Amino acid sequence: MKNINFGIDLGTTNSGIAKYENGKVTIFKNPVGFKDTIPSVVSFRKGRIQIGDKAREHVISNSNNVFSSFKRKMGSDENYFVEDLDKNITPIELSSMILKELASFAQGENPKTAVITIPASFDTIQTNATKKAGYSAGFEEVVLLQEPIAACLAYSNIQNLEIATEKKWLVYDFGGGTFDVALVKIDERELKVIDHKGNNFLGGVDLDTLFVEKIICPKIEANSSVENLWNKLASQENSIYKKLYFELLFKAEEAKKELSLKPTTNIEIDFDELDIFLDIDISKEEFEAILKAKFDESFQLTEKLITENRLQFSDIERIILVGGTTYIPYIREELQKRTEIIIDSSIDPTTAVILGATFYAGSKPSELVEKEEENVASEKVSEVKLELIFEPHSKDSEELIVAIVDNSISHYYRIIRADGGFDTGILKINQKISEFVPLLEKATNGFTISLYDFGQNQIHQKNIQITNGLYNILGQPLPNDICLEVDEQSGKTYMERIFKKNDILPMKKTIYKTCSKNILKNSDDKLIINIVEGNAGSMVGSNLTIGYIEISGRNFTQDLLKGMDVELNFKISESRDLSVNVYISSLDLEINEVFNPHQRTVSLEKLSAEVKSALDEINEEIENEEAEENYEYLSKIKRIKDYLAVLYNDSLEIADDKSTDKKYQIDEMKRIAIQEFDDLVRHKHVLGEIDEYRRTKDVFESYLERATPRQKEEFEKIIRTEKEFLESNNKYLIKQKNKELDKLLDDIYYKQDERYIDFFYHFRFLDDDQYKSASNFNKLVNLGDKALENKNLPELKAVCNQLYDLLKVKPKGKEDFNSFDGNLGLK
Ligand code: ADP
Ligand code: MG
Repeated sequence: MKNINFGIDLGTTNSGIAKYENGKVTIFKNPVGFKDTIPSVVSFRKGRIQIGDKAREHVISNSNNVFSSFKRKMGSDENYFVEDLDKNITPIELSSMILKELASFAQGENPKTAVITIPASFDTIQTNATKKAGYSAGFEEVVLLQEPIAACLAYSNIQNLEIATEKKWLVYDFGGGTFDVALVKIDERELKVIDHKGNNFLGGVDLDTLFVEKIICPKIEANSSVENLWNKLASQENSIYKKLYFELLFKAEEAKKELSLKPTTNIEIDFDELDIFLDIDISKEEFEAILKAKFDESFQLTEKLITENRLQFSDIERIILVGGTTYIPYIREELQKRTEIIIDSSIDPTTAVILGATFYAGSKPSELVEKEEENVASEKVSEVKLELIFEPHSKDSEELIVAIVDNSISHYYRIIRADGGFDTGILKINQKISEFVPLLEKATNGFTISLYDFGQNQIHQKNIQITNGLYNILGQPLPNDICLEVDEQSGKTYMERIFKKNDILPMKKTIYKTCSKNILKNSDDKLIINIVEGNAGSMVGSNLTIGYIEISGRNFTQDLLKGMDVELNFKISESRDLSVNVYISSLDLEINEVFNPHQRTVSLEKLSAEVKSALDEINEEIENEEAEENYEYLSKIKRIKDYLAVLYNDSLEIADDKSTDKKYQIDEMKRIAIQEFDDLVRHKHVLGEIDEYRRTKDVFESYLERATPRQKEEFEKIIRTEKEFLESNNKYLIKQKNKELDKLLDDIYYKQDERYIDFFYHFRFLDDDQYKSASNFNKLVNLGDKALENKNLPELKAVCNQLYDLLKVKPKGKEDFNSFDGNLGLK
């Protein structure tokens, strides 16, 4: 048995690979500069592909053929045009080249399995894109690990901490392309990510871009005849500006790094093509002025993470810094000042993720290798069962392995440690096996336990693992809710949660829905199953579709009618493959689909339309609320409105900006802002629904004595689960309960004779030409008036029934108004 053993940090800016062996992690150095990582850069030159430092050197001279930061476009449909090859290349292909290069550092070992890290905030599509890159680089087994977990594993395993009581940490990862902050819980031996926040478009690269825009460009303009320089650079007006852009970016990054060590730095620019020959001085203060806004963005996410989990900074024991950008002293100081928590920079922020990925790889059995071994061993192994008792995570230098064995078949056993350092030899079994085995320190120890028959022929073999002194993770959390879009009465749709954010993968669930429209056989009508990733209960449009099935009436052998049941089974694996099975029993129709989408489109038009419609909704909300004078709420949504207005403007202006990630940044910021708005509005609506529930319940209680036993029982049933749904923060769920209660109340009310007083007044004031006979109508009205005067309700009821019969056109029953036609077909 083998573990995965190879760990890879596939970073936006830098990537690296390491191997786990006997409790130790060894980073494979980049043979060129003998560094721990290589820049995640690929260059194409005269048919040759170069990767890492060599590629990075060509950024300026050969910018049309050099590609970096493509991790930020993972999962998008964006392609890069490679002049040298005269064809397009995808972010997945570029990532795959980096992975291949890294694998080649493991000289002679030809790794087939690897743990590859992803940001905690990577959605399903980005996750699948990363897996695809791994497989196309030649790995046969790819396990994904979220970066903050990796960083924590590295930290806790290297520091050799003795943690007696449970503690909470923050992992603050500010890298080259992404920002992630995770809240983790750690106890004696296990780590768990409780929650996280992130922005996939906030990183060191953005500081470099701002450095060029806000510091270098104005200085060049002030000292040369060049005008409007930033616009020309950003739109890459021509090849000269493109070259200058990359040269300035390169210099900005170097200057930024220098300012982490010194109070001032300078940049020399000798650019013949535009006659720019300058020596620019830049101070730390100038840099910090542009850094502040970006740091604030990261800090807001950090604060939000804390408050949303009902914590305070004082509940956090330490903040672990990860990512090259955290070298910047301002960031360390500000974090310390604003949180007053210990800022721990004791591990190298640029290799922590590689180390953690590799610790994980060292504890994760490879299914690939196991399969091969199974094939070889299967001939020898008989039906014998072997139940072993042992502690898989140990702090001691030896552990006990115990097993009860059936003596009539098994006569001998042998235990061997995988590294060969321990071997019991073949021993006789006396009813049970009981053996203390020595453990390698801080390592995952593999043991093979073999059973032999009377003639010492092997009849069974089993592999187990015991980890000594290493931290383990309690599994990986799902980063977002996964929901099913279903119809709502208003004609809108809402997201019903299938899997909950932060629950541990893998998961499965079955849900039952009702068909909300008629779909006739052989028609083109469709049942739509749309699975989205995002916040349950928020606007569907602000989330991401990850699975979509249309089931057309053309596939049906019978009609699918409103009210019929649809059963849906969902499964999601640790590496986030999502599969769904749809079963409609009345049609005996079953559909299976596995989703692993790895591409999506961000269209500028759609983007601005979405921002616009969110703005409209916010304006409407503001108008409604202004009357209520709820100032605190108003100021919060107005702030979001201002923010979205800026994004809207940006989305209209960036049309021809080819060189930056602006489109994706706006898309990401839009998502964050709309979610914030959603949260606020939802909270308010939830309160409204709770009020409504309480009111209906009060009314109900006053009618309770008139209810039938069945109605009473149904009422009790709702009340029993009251706590659960009132605290769910899900407006749709509470609304659903309100509806149930309303319906029950109606049932009781309609059966009451007093109800006929209302009916009578209704019939009485209809025009007499609506009745078949005006004279009969008048007679009945007289009778009714008398009955009313005498409070004779049975008589009044009879009159109402006759009036109803006399009507030319009968009004529809109440039930008809209650059932609605859905768009998707599921409710
Ligand atoms: P990623 O995880 O995105 O691959 P890293 O964690 O390797 O990135 O961080 C790379 C980023 O850190 C780059 O933007 C780089 O400019 C920045 N960086 C590295 N060293 C320093 C430094 N000393 N000061 C400021 N920024 C730095
Ligand atoms: Mg990183």
